[in-house]
Amino acid sequence: MVNYYSADIVITVSSTPLKQGVVAVNDEGVIEGVYDSHSVPDGVTVKRLAGVLIPGFVNTHCHLELSHMLGKIPQHTGLPTFLSNVMRDRNHTEKDMVSAMKKADEMMFKNGIQAVGDHVNSVISAPIKEKSKIIYHTFVEIIGVNNTQLQEKIDHARDLEFHFDANHSSITPHAPYSCTKLMFKAFKKAISEDNIISIHNQESDEENKLFRYKTGDFLTFYAEQGIDMSGFKAQARNSLQSYLPYLPTNNRIILVHNTFTSLKDLDFINRMNKKVVLCLCPKANLYIENTLPKIPVFEQDNRDITIGTDSLASNDTLDMLEELKTIHTHYPNIDFNSSIRWATLNGAKALGLESRLGSIEVGKAPGLVLLKNMNQLRLTKNVQVERIV
Ligand SMILES: [Zn+2]
Repeated sequence: MVNYYSADIVITVSSTPLKQGVVAVNDEGVIEGVYDSHSVPDGVTVKRLAGVLIPGFVNTHCHLELSHMLGKIPQHTGLPTFLSNVMRDRNHTEKDMVSAMKKADEMMFKNGIQAVGDHVNSVISAPIKEKSKIIYHTFVEIIGVNNTQLQEKIDHARDLEFHFDANHSSITPHAPYSCTKLMFKAFKKAISEDNIISIHNQESDEENKLFRYKTGDFLTFYAEQGIDMSGFKAQARNSLQSYLPYLPTNNRIILVHNTFTSLKDLDFINRMNKKVVLCLCPKANLYIENTLPKIPVFEQDNRDITIGTDSLASNDTLDMLEELKTIHTHYPNIDFNSSIRWATLNGAKALGLESRLGSIEVGKAPGLVLLKNMNQLRLTKNVQVERIV
């Protein structure tokens, strides 16, 4: 059976928005037709929806296994203190963790999220992902703060990766401050071109301070964790400029956060000529650092931007619409249609899912999401999300 839905505006993302557009979807969720108001086939029953119809969201950054930490970590502490708090509180009973992850997974689906890029350090989320209606790309994190057992750390990540969907998983360095130069080099040697990389980048200015001058709160964090940093030398440049050269040229690279990414860093990315995507997690940035990246600069610079919710350790919900509202509240001049593209098609491309998701096109099964209570194309706080398909 094929269902026909029309909305005030259909944003297909791949082509011009359609006023009173109609979308035909079969029982498997596959789009069978997209019509403007004049070309709808005769005799079909169309279900009218009030609002703006868009494809399902793609959330490019989450940590499902931290879902039990909702409301547990104090806000506005800065990243190094946040990390200490998470490391102290992250272990709970498996039962608590599994039930929180299940709820989070259901919350994301209900909120119109079709696919998620999800970071893990364990296999605890694997059974939930296997049963989920959401497509997960799992990024198994590698942490290598000293230069011992580099290959063992990579092998361990590969062992974990084995428990997740083979077509939608990869291994990845966790962050510039948690991997040494030799770790980056060993990682680059170990992976093939289809291994998507997703690395936390410049989430805190403390990370830049560490790389520029070897000063700041990260040194306190390492001392607390008993990590010896005597081998680390100040690089006289930001973190991004220090590690990006060690990442491969042909792999997709998702840089997550970019809260303290400068214009010079953006120029540097251009010169490196790598396949870089910038993922924004605005609500997590406000939660931890109480600030936002220079999003209008990224937009003007025509950057490939995606959006993530990050985890419930640094967010009160996993809701892409809330991330979009946060962006538009703080930066009212950001183009609405562009931001929908960031939250859908760009995310699908970043995770290698663009042939199935991210836009309302015949043959894709992107999910259909209705944005209700919109006033023109403005994302005010009254706008609500409803999953249609
Ligand atoms: Zn993260």
